[in-house]
Amino acid sequence: DDRIARIASTIRVIPDFPKPGILFQDITTLLLDPKAFKDTIDLFVERYKDKNINVIAGIEARGFIFGPPIALAIGAKFVPMRKPKKLPGEVISEEYSLEYGTDIMEMHVGAVQPGENAVIVDDLIATGGTLNAAISLLGLNLNAGRVGVTVVECACVIELKELKGREKLGDNPLFVLVSET
Ligand code: 5GP
Repeated sequence: DDRIARIASTIRVIPDFPKPGILFQDITTLLLDPKAFKDTIDLFVERYKDKNINVIAGIEARGFIFGPPIALAIGAKFVPMRKPKKLPGEVISEEYSLEYGTDIMEMHVGAVQPGENAVIVDDLIATGGTLNAAISLLGLNLNAGRVGVTVVECACVIELKELKGREKLGDNPLFVLVSET
């Protein structure tokens, strides 16, 4: 698909952000190119339309850019997965590991219903810790009183292949547009 190469060419790489030694993949330059942005959304919509997907779960912050247009186009609801203490209602939380320390992801109680089918959207998968936390919040631990939707797939614009985040997702499928080696 020749749209992929064009999308890849719009992603800017910024060295030493946010810390020395990190090559940051900057998707804001993709957003500046309306054709690349539209092609990105279209590729996800083509994959998920007519698949009985009820939920697009977007991960703060860049999953909030790509998730909502996909949700609108396929007729799904959009559910924000947020950093702690941002959501005003009752939440369920999942702690997960970062390179140094831990972080917490939250979603609103009642945002999804058992039996619904969800796709989780973020801009990028690195180690996979973030997506794994989202999968846990949405799908696992039914006997811990959690919501128990089916996570059909995780969808990202970019995969940093060397970090092997895909392996952390276990049996949960991952779909990406651009693989960076
Ligand atoms: P992981 O949990 O897979 O290690 O990290 C993925 C999360 O960190 C995603 O939410 C993603 O937005 C963010 N992230 C990590 N590295 C980058 C990067 O190089 N570029 C962008 N845009 N996001 C990154």
